[in-house]
This record gives sequence, structure tokens and C-alpha cells, in this order.
Amino acid sequence: LSERLGGVFDRLTKQGALSEEDVRTALREVRVALLEADVSLPVARNFIKTVEKKATGAAVTKSVTPGQQVVKIVHDELIETLRGEGEPGSLRVDSPPAPILMVGLQGGGKTTTTAKLAKRLKERDGKKVLMASLDVNRPAAMEQLQILGTQIGVDTLPIVKGEDPVTIAKRAKTQAGLGGYDVYMLDTAGRLSIDEELMSQVEAVRDVANPRETLLVVDGLTGQDAVHTAENFDERIGITGVVLTRMDGDGRGGAALSMRAVTGKPIKFVGLGEKMDALETFEPDRVAGRILGMGDIVTLVEKAQQTLEAEQAERMMKRFQKGQFNMNDLKMQLEQMMKMGGMESMLQMMPGAGKMAKQMGDAGMDDRVLKQQIALIQSMTKKERANPQILQASRKKRIAGGAGLEVSDLNKLLKMQRQMSDMMKKMGKMGKGGMMKQAMK
Ligand code: GDP
Ligand code: MG
Repeated sequence: LSERLGGVFDRLTKQGALSEEDVRTALREVRVALLEADVSLPVARNFIKTVEKKATGAAVTKSVTPGQQVVKIVHDELIETLRGEGEPGSLRVDSPPAPILMVGLQGGGKTTTTAKLAKRLKERDGKKVLMASLDVNRPAAMEQLQILGTQIGVDTLPIVKGEDPVTIAKRAKTQAGLGGYDVYMLDTAGRLSIDEELMSQVEAVRDVANPRETLLVVDGLTGQDAVHTAENFDERIGITGVVLTRMDGDGRGGAALSMRAVTGKPIKFVGLGEKMDALETFEPDRVAGRILGMGDIVTLVEKAQQTLEAEQAERMMKRFQKGQFNMNDLKMQLEQMMKMGGMESMLQMMPGAGKMAKQMGDAGMDDRVLKQQIALIQSMTKKERANPQILQASRKKRIAGGAGLEVSDLNKLLKMQRQMSDMMKKMGKMGKGGMMKQAMK
């Protein structure tokens, strides 16, 4: 993809902002890449639309081409879409015995994944795990889980021939309680395709087990089908997460993106082989690179990011030296603080930041306040940001309202900006050397 884009942009050498035309040309290629990676058409279309909005007008950094710049925006957006809520790879297994229900189509990798996860829970989290196979359909399915259990040293529920899945689930629950297990895992039977019998069976099991996690196990190579499966299971059973298996194959993993977009459920793990330790926490950036089909994307993106930050910092220093500090500067500072995780690290990074950090600290700036202040600045117009002194009562009301806050909150922000601006002016007079000295104090 990078080469293709490179070709497209060879003739475009202009600097400044990305034009609509630049973006559209680049995104045409990205769209092809997404479809080749098995991302479903409506999802790809939507994704492209979002990126188009974000990319048009974005600043172009000096050392990357517009094509690379668009790729970076695409990459960032991909990661954002792929990342679900919460910690990837985490499972809710508090309040023992916590039931985990494993669902999916036949051959998707449920039984294998059940055992892999059990092993992980045991080894990483020190959990005592019980596994039970509810697969009464396929001959030897129960024995398969039992053999895996022996192999990884995890208990399985003794097999009783002739029981139905609901009875087995109840027995597993009782056994897990009596045996002091932290977690019990229910490995259900699958079908070749979604059918009513399968769904009502899984539903009945869900109702007796009341699972803390319901994980859908799907073959990551099946693309579109995987998305339909996820949609169906989520509607009917309600899943809490997805495990994508066979990601060791040469598929590009576009299913991951479609699935996230369609169900909104987090992808928690990926299966990377048949062995018991071939299970990893889902990592959005890795899959994003894979979907775009470029190995060097990460380096490229990092380079672009560094350049962007260096340019920004340089511009800011110049402004500060001139004693300028408007709402745009403040916003950048606030965002930096959020990104760097607070005051401490900022103190070390920014000359002259000592006083600033103290003032911000005095103003009671934790993350929540930072977010509010950024929201306030965001609801200002361009003109207001550049010249905050023009803010009168009616404008203030509008801005505070736009951010869902009070005018008093805005006043605090304005006061902070004024103080900093004053400080910048003082420091500006001292020149760069003075500023450094000031920072050392
Ligand atoms: P189930 O019918 O959903 O229980 O599927 P199984 O767990 O029995 O798995 C079906 C086949 O897929 C087995 O041969 C597994 O070894 C294989 N399999 C499962 N997960 C993976 C994976 O992540 N990568 C690869 N290459 N094979 C897998
Ligand atoms: Mg199975």
C-alpha cells in the first residue's frame, strides 16, 4: 500500500494542509486495501468516510509525503476502531465461581480456545479453573476437552453420557462451587451454520449459568461470515467479547475491523496456532498494520508523529519567546499534559513549566478538569481562541453551554490563560537564556 500511495503522491509536492483531492486519491487506495483484507463493504465505506473528514485539512508535516500522512491518519483511526472499551485481554472473573461461556460455530476453535484460556487463567492469574464440555452432538468432543485438560493440568468435569447441555451446565456450576474453583468454563457445541436449535440450546445454557463473560470464538479467516456469526450471536445470546482464531494464517484480519464496527464488542484475544500457549492478547496496532498490509507502517507512522511533535514544539517555543500565549497554546499544553499523564512529566519536558505546572496544580487540575478545559476551548470559535479577550457575557454563555459546563468554569480557564500569557511576556523579555534559568529555579 505504501508504494501504491507513494506513486499516487509522487506528483504532489505541495506543502501545507491536505486537500480534499489529496485525501480522496489516497483513500481510494486505502479502500481497496481494506476490501482486500476482507473488511466488509459497508464497514469499509463508513470507515473511509470518517477518515476523510479527519484528514481533509490536516496539516502536512515537512518530512513525510501527503500519502504517508493519510496513511498515518488511517492507521490511527484503525487502531481506535479496533480498540474496545476496557483493558484488552482482561476477563471479569471476580466473585468465584465465575462462569465463562464459550460460543461459536463448529470448528471455529471453541474447545481449543477454552483450554488455552484456562491455561492462561491458571498460569497468569493463579486461578483454579474447571472446564466442562457441553458438546453432546459431536462424538468424542467431550474427550477432546478432557485430553487437553490433562495436558495443561486443568480439571474437567467428569463425563456422564446421556446428559443434555443444560444438565451438564448445572452440574458444572455445583461442582465449581463445591470444589472451590475460581472460574468454570462452559464449552458449548457448535453447528456448521447458525440454526434455531443451536441458538435456543445456547440460550438455555446461558440462562442457567448466568455467565460473567460470554466469549464468541470465530475463525479470523472467514471474513464476512465471521461478522454475520458475531452479529447473530450477539443479538440472540449477548456476547461480552470475541476471540479471533487462526490469526497465524495468512489472512489479513479484516474481519476484526468489521466485527468491531458491527457489534461494538471488544476483541479480547487472538489464537495463533494449535498449541496450548498460542493465545495472545489482542493488539490493535499489530492488526491495524496487518490490515493495511505494510510491515514498515509503524516506523513510518512514528516518524511522522515525531516530526509533527517537533514542529509543534518549535512553533510553540517561538510564540512563547514573543510572549504570545492564546487559547490554542493552552489547548496544546492541556493535551500534552493528558498525553504525558500529568504534571510531573511535563515539568521535566518544558522549560519554564515549573510555574505553569504549579498554577495548574493550584487550580486543581486532574484529568477530569483537563478534559473539561479542553472541551471549553473546543467550543470556542477560531477567532475566540486566538483572542480570548473578546469574550463577553453572551459568548461566554454559549461556550460554557457548548461544553456542558458553567460560565464560572470558563472564567477559571480564562484566568489561567491570562496568567500564563503574563508569565510568557515576562519570560519572553528575558530571552531564551532567561527562560531556561527561570525553569531551573
Ligand atoms: P470447535 O469445534 O469450535 O470446538 O473447534 P476446535 O477447538 O475443535 O478447533 C478446530 C481445529 O482448529 C482444531 O484442529 C484446532 O487445533 C484448530 N485451531 C483452533 N484454534 C486455532 C488457531 O488459532 N490457529 C490454528 N492454526 N488452528 C487452530
Ligand atoms: Mg468443540
